Parts: sequence; structure tokens; C-alpha cells
Amino acid sequence: MTQTFRHRALTALALAASILPITAQAQSKPAPISEAEVRAHIAQLASDAFEGRGPGSAGETKTLDYLAKTWASYGLVSGTNDAAHPWFQPVPLVERKPYAQAVHATARGKAVKLAEDGVALSGRNPADRATGEPLFVGYGIKPDGTLNADVKGRIVLMLSGEPKFEGAAKLPGLRDRQKMLAASGAAAVLITAPDGVPWSALRAQLANGSMRLASDDVSAPIAGVLRGDVSEAMLRAARLSAADAGAKAAVPGFVPVTLPVTLDLATSTAVRAFDSHNVIGKLPGTKPGSGAILLLGHWDHFGICRSEEAEDRICNGAVDNASGMAVLLTVAERLARGAQMDRDVYFMGTTAEERGLLGAYYFADHPVVPLGDIKVALNVDTVAIAPAGAPVALVGRGENGLDGIVDEVAKSMGRTVDSDTEANAFIRRQDGWALGAKGVKSIMAGGSFSDMKLLQAFLTTVYHQPDDELTDATPLGGAADDANLHVELTRHFADEAKYPAAPTGD
Ligand SMILES: [Zn+2]
Repeated sequence: MTQTFRHRALTALALAASILPITAQAQSKPAPISEAEVRAHIAQLASDAFEGRGPGSAGETKTLDYLAKTWASYGLVSGTNDAAHPWFQPVPLVERKPYAQAVHATARGKAVKLAEDGVALSGRNPADRATGEPLFVGYGIKPDGTLNADVKGRIVLMLSGEPKFEGAAKLPGLRDRQKMLAASGAAAVLITAPDGVPWSALRAQLANGSMRLASDDVSAPIAGVLRGDVSEAMLRAARLSAADAGAKAAVPGFVPVTLPVTLDLATSTAVRAFDSHNVIGKLPGTKPGSGAILLLGHWDHFGICRSEEAEDRICNGAVDNASGMAVLLTVAERLARGAQMDRDVYFMGTTAEERGLLGAYYFADHPVVPLGDIKVALNVDTVAIAPAGAPVALVGRGENGLDGIVDEVAKSMGRTVDSDTEANAFIRRQDGWALGAKGVKSIMAGGSFSDMKLLQAFLTTVYHQPDDELTDATPLGGAADDANLHVELTRHFADEAKYPAAPTGD
């Protein structure tokens, strides 16, 4: 135990004492979790000292330390079930940050001007180069889902949208199609800029680098994104308009077209392999073998996310997702103080959610208990959005038969229920998806996803920007409500009599 740890534990106790009258502490039912308790944890996690909680940074070390020591101070034990790695599950990642690129184009021996600021490249290795006439492959696949061309050694240009072949079954998504092209030996895989994302935002994101699980590290030597005007200029060289190209590529039997422009692409990329970590604590239950409940949220954010000249370089991620971790800390504190539950309750902070749910996917492949033993997974993400009293919405409504229970628990706490399925729009954008995809009953319940106007106001302004900071105006009423909701939900699901939970799949 370090000095700072002791200090923090005392602060937590002092905080609890200041909120509860002495007599109440002696009783079994503590006061509800308050906004002040939630705020105190966000203030720590989203402070500049934590450097925006980037995986593999000094901010990771601080964040993991804070989470594990705070949970331990409440009485949780390590939940990794791995004596070699108490508390912290190593998650092997590979990070790539491009720092230089060169793009040259020639047609019939003459230089062609391509707007280089409309090309964003990243290499697989510290130095990569690819030359040749690009092959426009449309969506890259045939209606049966297999590649539509021999791409070995080629520079490939692919549409980033979802392929829409009439009557075709579920087709591989963009990342899978990029992987298929890379695995087939493409020298470079260029994609058109996805719709709906401003180029400046996309570029900032690409410059920030990519992270992948080491176990899923498939990419072509060069990967790139082309701004609309650049991809259109290249397609025009083959007498294709952008609209034409999309329509033609969606016709079964589409034949890829070589574009009569010779590209010479070169990249310089910083490549780093390292272990990040999921942090996992546990409140042991009284009935071993009765299964487990998992509460999770992602601890990571984008770290130091702006270049040196920027005034504010730190993406603090106060709402996304210091707020969710603050809820998991306060919930653990209340549950640890209450009567011991039947089932083991795990608390997990995942890494690299912002880079594609990487920590959650790693956990789903390397769970600390068999996935079939996890009766329910409750994800908590981006909760400081709604004021107190917001209706309870459910990401995952109608997906796994838990709606009735959540609605009942919410109503028993005096909350109203938002019973539409609007919140399901976020189902793939949160860690619960990685578990749900493997058959774990997984939900995200709370007030943030009931008021789409409030949520969109956040998503279209400070979201993923240095401005996602804790201020006096940050709404924490809904977060405190949701923390209390998760105390009750967890007690319900961890109670074998109240929630017998028929065995699930694997
Ligand atoms: Zn995010």
C-alpha cells in the first residue's frame, strides 16, 4: 500500500462518513449514491494528471492504479483468477502512428496533381512503399462474400460503404474486407472516405494512430483513406463517376477496373507492440458454482490527442468514460458494504474500447470464468448526460429477455421506463457487443440513452474532443440515478432465487 493509496482510501471513507449520518451507517441500507460521490471519481480520472487515459501511456498506469486500489479499499479482491496477473489482465496490442507520407501520381509518363492533404496513409512497418496502377475493386467482394479479384502485389481502391447486392446474405463489413485484401497479398488497400464523417475529424483520428489486438493484426503494407475529391479524380481517369462506380460495383458480375494512373506511395510509421490491461475486481458470492454477474465499463480514452502547438492537448474523456468508471466504483462500494450476494460479481474496466472494443474482445476470447457462467453483463458507458429523473432506456432492448426485469427494478425505484428501441442504435458501439456477440446476455441500462436530443448534443460537440472535461455544468444527476439503478440490478441478478438464469449456450 502506497502513501497515496492510504490517503485515497481515507478520503473515500471520509466522503462516505460525511454523507451518512452515524446512525445510518450502522443500519443495513446505506444512503443512495450521490452526485458528489460520482463527481469525486470523475474529477480524479478525468484530471490532466491522468493524461486522458491512453492505453500504453503513463495515464494507463495511473488509471489502473486508481481503479484497483479504490476497489481493493472497498473490499474487492482480484478478479483475474490468475495468480500470475492479479487485478490486471494483459491485453497484447500493436499501435501504429504514421508520421510521414509521400504520394506521387503519373499518367502516361506525366505527373498528375493529387491533393496530398486528401490522402491519409499509414504503413504496417516503419517504412513501406507501393507502386503501380490501382485496381478499383468496388466493394471488393462478390455476392457470395469472396474476393472479386486477384489483388496480389496490387494497390487496391475499395468503396468503404456496405455492399448492397440484391438478395445476398450477410456480407463481410469494411474491416473484414480490408483484412481479406491484405491476407491475399494486396500491397496497399485504399478506401474512399466513409460518409458522414468530416474529413478533418477523420484525418485527426488517423493521425492519432491505430491499435489492434496482436492476435488480429492483419493489414496490408500500406493502408489509406482518400477524400472524396481525390477518389473521384482517380475514378474519372477510368471514365467512372463516383455515383456510377457505386452502382456498377453492386451489380453481380462486376469486374474490377485498373485505373490508368500510376501511384507511388511511401509511408513512415512508428510501430509499437505493448501490453495494455483490463482491470478486474471481484466481490465473491456465497454460492460458488451459481454463476457470475459482470459489470464493465471502459477506462481508456484518447490520451494526449493533439499536436504540441495545440492549447489543450489532452482528451480527458470526463463523460466518455470517466463517468462510467465512477459509477462502477460507487456501485462496488455500496455492494461491498451490503449483504453478501449469492453469485460472484465481477467489476471490469476494459482497455482500448475507443480503438474498437479491443479489451472487451480480448476478454471475450480469454474470459476469467467460462462465458456460459456469466449470467448477465451490464455495461456502463457515457452516463453523465441526463439530469436526475430521466427515464431508463435499454441498449439491447428486445434482444435477450431481460427487459421485464430491468423495467420492474427501475419502476420499483420510482423511475419511469423508456420502452422504445431507439437506444439499440448504439448496440454495436459499446463493449457489451463483444460479449453479446458470443451469447452473453448483455445490456446497457440508464438515462443517457433515453433522451436522444441530449445525447446527440454531446456526440456532436465535445465527444472525443479535448473539451470532454468535467465542469460545474456536467450533469451528474442521471449518473447518480444510474449508479443506484445498477446497485439494485446487480443485487437482483446476483440473487439465485430472484434470477434463476437458465444455463446459456457454451
Ligand atoms: Zn468514445
